[in-house]
Amino acid sequence: MHDHRRLGRELRLFDTDPLIGAGLPYWLPDGAVVRQALEEYVRDAERRAGYQHVYSPVLGKRELYEISGHWSHYREDMFPPMDLGGEQVVLRPSLCPHHAVIYRSRAHSHRELPLRIAELGGMYRAELSGVLGGLTRVRAIQLNDAHVFCTPDQVAEEARAALAMIVRAYEVLGIRPARYRLSLPGPGGKYVAAPEMWRRAAAMLTEVLDRSGLDYERAEGEAAFYGPKIDVQIADGAGREATLSTVQVDFHQPAQFDLHYTGPDGARHRPVMIHRSVIGSVERAVAHLIELHGGAFPSWLAPIQVVVLPISDSELPQADDLARRCTEDGLRARVAGPEQGSLGARIRAARLVPYQAVIGAREAEVENVALRLRDGRRLDALPVVEAVRRINALVTSRRAELWEQAAPG
Ligand SMILES: [Zn+2]
Repeated sequence: MHDHRRLGRELRLFDTDPLIGAGLPYWLPDGAVVRQALEEYVRDAERRAGYQHVYSPVLGKRELYEISGHWSHYREDMFPPMDLGGEQVVLRPSLCPHHAVIYRSRAHSHRELPLRIAELGGMYRAELSGVLGGLTRVRAIQLNDAHVFCTPDQVAEEARAALAMIVRAYEVLGIRPARYRLSLPGPGGKYVAAPEMWRRAAAMLTEVLDRSGLDYERAEGEAAFYGPKIDVQIADGAGREATLSTVQVDFHQPAQFDLHYTGPDGARHRPVMIHRSVIGSVERAVAHLIELHGGAFPSWLAPIQVVVLPISDSELPQADDLARRCTEDGLRARVAGPEQGSLGARIRAARLVPYQAVIGAREAEVENVALRLRDGRRLDALPVVEAVRRINALVTSRRAELWEQAAPG
């Protein structure tokens, strides 16, 4: 596997600057494209799974995190509070408290549940400068987060559906998990004290994992402070593991924020809160994708999807026309003309681009293009219109295959 820090610089995906600060990378245009494509995939998958998206602020009053329990259980990982007009505000260490408050802002009937609230939002962690680096250890994190508010009866199905979303996303992204982990509390005061709540939540997640047919391991001391969780672990080239995706069952925060819904009996009931993240932090996910694919991203994620290569200056008008058609169709294309070197040199320079569209005199004359695929395959010349249509169909369906033969008949 590759080192995402080195490749990220080489491919101009992201960088850091001491003036902005350690652990605060910025995204360059090509990196921003990958990130946006990934975020669009996640939002699309969430919409299809019945999630509603919200936005909430990255700051909150200290009191908010005192209620959620972050202040007492997680403070050493939080940025110090800022004094502001007699109040203290902090950069949020998680999105959960905001979503609990959003839930609480309206009355809910049992008929509205499960209520699934999602946000790709910023959160902050006061990591020590010694451990910071690349996209994997950062102080500003964009988290793909969601909270499902549901009845106790709905927990198993919602957790199962969340786990299925993760498995599906990994297929599309080409990610293979290192292992699934049931993360349980360990000794020490890091965890909220409520034995019955922990037992119930752990039993629910155990059942979900057992029914999923996935192999998993139990790990003590890896739970969130408010509840146990299913962690999906990934490994880098050196075998170092990190958690990318999670599904958590939480009875604690609904109680802390006094959340309720009206049941069929007309009485007030406490919902359960499922925290789930499909791709975890955008930073860690992109770092892993860079290392996994060595910069040769699946075509739907690639910063440039089509490079157009006119053999000589005479074919430049046709090359510009093809790039424009691609762009109008929503594809990311650019022309690499003869001024950038021989055809061979330009093909080598574009080796990470999924589709290399060569136009010589023969192709130009009849509005054809000769496609070369990143894996070395060379296709027979085909009409420009058909090439754009077929590339676009493969890209928009987020297929892993670079090409498929036209359907028979
Ligand atoms: Zn949460």
